[in-house]
Amino acid sequence: PAVDNATAVVVGSGYGGAVAALRLGQAGIRTLVLEMGRLWNTPGADGKIFCSTAAPDQRSMWFRTRTEAPLASFLWLDVVNKDIKPYPGALDRVHFDAMSVYVGRGVGGGSLVNGGMAVTPSQAYFAEQFPTVDATEMYGTYFPRARAMLGVNTVDSTWFESTEWYRFTRTSRKAATNAGLKTTFVPNVYDFDYMQREAAGTATKSALAQEVIYGNNYGKRSLDKTYLAAALGTGNVTVNTLEKVKRIERAADGTWLLTADRIDVTGTVVETKQYNCTYLFLGGGSLGTSELLVRARDTGALPDLDARVGAGWGTNGNTMVGRANHIWDTTGANQSTMPVMGIDDWANTANPVFAEIAPLPIGFETWVSLYLAITKNPSRASFTYDSASDGVKLGWTAAHSAVSVAMAKKLFDRINLANATIYRYDLFGSTSKVFADDFCYHPLGGCVLGQATDDYGRVKGTSRLYVTDGSLVPGNIGVNPFVTITALAERTMARVLVEDTAP
Ligand code: FAD
Repeated sequence: PAVDNATAVVVGSGYGGAVAALRLGQAGIRTLVLEMGRLWNTPGADGKIFCSTAAPDQRSMWFRTRTEAPLASFLWLDVVNKDIKPYPGALDRVHFDAMSVYVGRGVGGGSLVNGGMAVTPSQAYFAEQFPTVDATEMYGTYFPRARAMLGVNTVDSTWFESTEWYRFTRTSRKAATNAGLKTTFVPNVYDFDYMQREAAGTATKSALAQEVIYGNNYGKRSLDKTYLAAALGTGNVTVNTLEKVKRIERAADGTWLLTADRIDVTGTVVETKQYNCTYLFLGGGSLGTSELLVRARDTGALPDLDARVGAGWGTNGNTMVGRANHIWDTTGANQSTMPVMGIDDWANTANPVFAEIAPLPIGFETWVSLYLAITKNPSRASFTYDSASDGVKLGWTAAHSAVSVAMAKKLFDRINLANATIYRYDLFGSTSKVFADDFCYHPLGGCVLGQATDDYGRVKGTSRLYVTDGSLVPGNIGVNPFVTITALAERTMARVLVEDTAP
């Protein structure tokens, strides 16, 4: 095939990819972004770009015949999932042996489908996880830069205390307070002024219309509206969609050679393309980047990559759980999809947990308090190359997940005891499953900063190859991860543009 040229190529358009694209474009470097998902800017027959969780269609999930929502059932009935036509939908669930991982697909990556929670970790824990990074500089410069660019804001507390849309949060807060636990407001990138107008009936509903994991039609400042819009605005950045990078190798002249499959909306490969560039930035996320690098090392394309490429992977200690409230403690038929509060027990060194109070926005009273717990699970797993599938396997086991479950259970047993309440057994598919131990939203690691890369994301054992995404984070960051990923990418770009690309 003909070879296209760009000075820099960025693989993936999530947080890491978007930051790289903007800062390269601003530096006047001709940059091409390759994204395997589609661009989400065209309304379907119903006039909407994305579908809601209540009525999923082909736009919901990445090439499926049936949706695979995180809550598999309600009262043990499979009322949640629907048959759909295979299509490059916005949410993917990637299955490994004992863990499946939700990721976003499309221009904007995870920002299209996530809950928008924009949390900065405590400085002490950040320093513990990244001992070689100057934490003072991160908290003084790069975290504020990331939050400003991402459009982070916080719900108005007066409105929060009175609106029906956050009754579910207030009910969960009361239960936590009864157990002596601390709760804290969690910032978000969803525009809360817009949400208040939704509630007042003066704006089209999105967060208040069950839109989230299959995309938000309004209100959310996803990356296509922030970093990526600014990147395109520089005039130096182009984005090619529905192109999946399969292979990276070094050309004879020392430049990078990439091979990518271009698919159509049925998933058929319509063209295999080649690209040549001087600088290569990997922003395919923990799964995408780890796979590309493990494959490159273990097929012999880049044999000098560090042995720690593929290692240090974790789920951020994720586990979901539901509690049943008393009949008088209602959670409300109307629930905003954007979480705004967490139970913060991270300082409890015997059992650190940070649990988001999650909505169950299905339009009727359920009395369910749902949570996404982030636990300090120290388990780590590795990706290994599988030549039979030319893909990777992930060594995460059920025993690894059991550590997260045990930590979350300690916290929620405490809450149940203090409130004389019980768990819900009907939410996660099989009978009597209380804790979701087989999926996660926060894949982290696989190319850990300072291990498989230098302290600025430069991949060891080669040159002009950079990682800017969640694979840099060593398996756990204690809070929802995208602010940290964005801030680390800002730090890498600030350094690399000065030291590596100067003429
Ligand atoms: P991603 O955002 O995953 O972007 C990677 C991109 O690269 C994707 O678009 C992918 O399609 C593309 N790609 C991958 N491989 C290739 C390839 N070979 N060729 C071409 N393109 C490729 N985090 C929070 O902080 N707060 C939240 O509230 C929150 N809620 C979440 C809810 C859900 C349902 C999910 C799935 C995640 C949530 N997360 C949340 C996690 C957050 O979205 C991720 O941590 C974040 O998106 C990771 O950023 P990234 O840059 O590493 O990669």
